Amino acid sequence: MTESREQTALPQPKPEQTGYAVIGLGKLTLEELLPAFAVGRASRLAAVVSGDPAEARAAALAYGLTEADAYSYDDFEKLGERDDVHAVYIVLPNSLHREYTERAAKIGKHVLCEKPLATSVEDAEAMVRACKDAGVFLMTAYRCQYTPHHWAARDAVQSGRLGQIKLMHSVNVQVEPNEGQWRLRRELAGGGSLPDVGLYCVNTVRFLLGEEPYEVSGTLYSTPGDERFREVEESVTWQMRFPSGVVAQCACSYGAATARSIDVFGTEGRLAIDPAFDYQNLRLTVQTGQDVTEVRVPPEDQFRLETDHFSRRIQEGCAPYTPGEEGLQDQKIMAAIYQSAHEGGRPVALERFEGRDVFRGAAPERS
Ligand code: NDP
Repeated sequence: MTESREQTALPQPKPEQTGYAVIGLGKLTLEELLPAFAVGRASRLAAVVSGDPAEARAAALAYGLTEADAYSYDDFEKLGERDDVHAVYIVLPNSLHREYTERAAKIGKHVLCEKPLATSVEDAEAMVRACKDAGVFLMTAYRCQYTPHHWAARDAVQSGRLGQIKLMHSVNVQVEPNEGQWRLRRELAGGGSLPDVGLYCVNTVRFLLGEEPYEVSGTLYSTPGDERFREVEESVTWQMRFPSGVVAQCACSYGAATARSIDVFGTEGRLAIDPAFDYQNLRLTVQTGQDVTEVRVPPEDQFRLETDHFSRRIQEGCAPYTPGEEGLQDQKIMAAIYQSAHEGGRPVALERFEGRDVFRGAAPERS
């Protein structure tokens, strides 16, 4: 059991719904998160925080709040006076995740933080420490670890249905056309396609296996002269080796048309999730011998599942399934991939863990 699972945190909200202040009204918040809160079972929107006062007021009113529930970044600490705000959901450019986690911990609020947890191992460690010291929970917003298709795939992998797993292959690529995007500024993003989209491959491979890689190697590539990639990398390919002998080969890019997939190859069969990381319409197929089955899982809002999980854990006083430590581990793996790439692709060793799910809390409830 990890230390974070034993932690007892305050505040524990009653009645049944955990109230959130959502920080940053960008694309993800407006298109996915606010609608997910509207159908939340254990969660509800209590406040919004934005640098754009008009947008903040409009979002508050559109989701049943009042103008008084709209805050600026300068007013963030005033959330400390709100007993109905139990947690903050940080949906800001990556390099701001640490600052707002520390500020939230200081005012006694639990923290749900978007991926990647931070832009460096050092920042991620500081975030885990700040929340632990303040007695609040920190959850990394890894929606794919709350998604029924991914759980069905994990069951197939870990039940032995595919035999012994030998190889995995995962790709997450998309075109990033916008030169002005914060995602292409190193200071705000921390890196290029790896922390933004490649992270899904790292994290999902680890989730399906339950294992931790002990060694990685990687290479980076950016199209010469392409101004978008002056500060951050366009593409990364990398390999991860696991204690059970599994080798995972992965690739991510900001330069290729959208594709998001994961394939698992075992001695008795294979599975594929394709698309694997979309918000909707995931498709999981399992093949053993000549038998190919599409595993049908009722569609669910991934963001509702994720936020409701954190809400229930806060209410129960238990650490979430994907705590800060889970995001920190991915930060260490990504740092090792960059190190390998900068050292000519030589393998870089990571701390070796033999157990399963060493950074995760108790498994989420499944319907
Ligand atoms: P956007 O660029 O659409 O929104 C970011 C928001 O942050 C802005 O709209 C702005 O909100 C606020 N902000 C504050 N300071 C800055 C700044 N210096 N530059 C730019 N924006 C700033 O980003 P996304 O919503 O796509 O991503 C936000 C976070 O969510 C990232 O960490 C990303 O990795 C993660 N993400 C996760 C996804 C998932 O599936 N889990 C999917 C997409 C993103 P305001 O105007 O209100 O101040």
